[in-house]
Amino acid sequence: MSLRVRFAPSPTGYLHVGGARTALFNWLLARKEDGVFVLRVEDTDQARSRDEHTEAILHGLSWLGLDWDEGPYFQSDGVERHRAAALQLLEEGKAYRDFSDPDEIRAEAERRQKHASRVARERADALPDGEAEERAEAGEPHAIRFRVPAGETRFSDRVHGTMRFGNTDIDDLVILRSDGTPIYNLAVVSDDHEMGINLVLRGDDHLSNTPKQVLLYRALGYPEPEFAHVPLILGADGKRLSKRHGATAVGDYEEQGILPEAMRNFLALLGWNPGDDREVFLEVEELVEAFSSERILKKSSVFDTEKLEWLNGRHLAEMPAGELLDRVHGRLRSVEHADAALLADEAWMTRLVDLLKVRSRTVDELADGALPFVRTELVFEEKAVAKHWEKDPPAAEERMKRLLEVLEDTEWALDPLEEAIRGVADELDVGAGKVIHPLRLAVTGRQSSPGIFQVLVLLGRGRTLERLRNGLERVRAL
Ligand code: GLU
Repeated sequence: MSLRVRFAPSPTGYLHVGGARTALFNWLLARKEDGVFVLRVEDTDQARSRDEHTEAILHGLSWLGLDWDEGPYFQSDGVERHRAAALQLLEEGKAYRDFSDPDEIRAEAERRQKHASRVARERADALPDGEAEERAEAGEPHAIRFRVPAGETRFSDRVHGTMRFGNTDIDDLVILRSDGTPIYNLAVVSDDHEMGINLVLRGDDHLSNTPKQVLLYRALGYPEPEFAHVPLILGADGKRLSKRHGATAVGDYEEQGILPEAMRNFLALLGWNPGDDREVFLEVEELVEAFSSERILKKSSVFDTEKLEWLNGRHLAEMPAGELLDRVHGRLRSVEHADAALLADEAWMTRLVDLLKVRSRTVDELADGALPFVRTELVFEEKAVAKHWEKDPPAAEERMKRLLEVLEDTEWALDPLEEAIRGVADELDVGAGKVIHPLRLAVTGRQSSPGIFQVLVLLGRGRTLERLRNGLERVRAL
């Protein structure tokens, strides 16, 4: 039987990194085992479900490259089937009608120190034969509760091993509310059965639901799927990951310039490792190959933003510049004083991206590094001006003046430029840095940049000399 897994998000919020991780693990297993990855939107919470959330979730999955083979199915489309399952249980005596007033039941349960649902069951069982049916037919509102059998519920979990739950700790759960709407635990069992799901892999937060669902599978006579519950994701402080720790929506990372390839790589390592020290999986095929549910860790994992950025830098460095162009363009579009001709020059932009991508951790950082190259007016970093010009203006002036003279006669290529600039330093009897720093400041406005010789080559003779001249004027005015 081939593997059938699913991702079943509730559209009550955006795609959270925890949800994305669950989706990814399911997708990886489906791809690895030639299985089927089903997408089901659990939209039965009418009050909190929103179409915009569904869209954001689908968009997030697509962005991450997690394509689904079936769906999206919508849980709300199965309501009739869910109801039929509840009625089947009722008919077979595995569920009962509960006419009681919840407040009254709660008060009685407290007084008698019993589970509220057991009090409800006693009341239901105390009704004379046929009365429940009559009252239901007369239209009296009531819920339907599942009658949890005595004993113990066991199931095996791929991550946690055998799990055992005493049934006395499990409430007689409502499966159909008095307004006729099904409850999550019933809907999920009915849907997973209908969709032929044979492995349910989801977050640990559902672990307490699983015994209830297992009991429902058995009561309905459905074959049980396997289960795998993946551990929680924590923030750096060891607390459950939340907004306090920074962005938790996948879309926020997309906006920040994280690459989907890097995000996927990062999410895969949250609660899983390949068994060796590999961390960078440049190709998704490598990840599919390495992934296995046996290596999902029991203990929770920590969402380390530094690591995400580091991984992103690794993916960025390896990505062909051509593939990054659009994303960089997107970020440079609104820059003031940008040189439109340069931005439109694809070959030149590709060289620029090539130069920057190996030293950037995000696309945003890369785009920021591109600014000095594409701006027609430089923005000078105050700290750099103070350090390399203002501290000793006559020295800076002398070095820049000499550079200007020498560079005017230098062939514009890496080696001759390097030779010329080092020659100026020798001639003035200072270290190369003393010449390079004021020069870099003049041509980029910044303290740091890619290697200066490459920067000059890319800027070209005309722009370099013009910027150097402007810089010299500024230094003279100090
Ligand atoms: N809709 C549930 C959630 O978003 C997931 C249900 C499941 O995976 O069984 O938490």
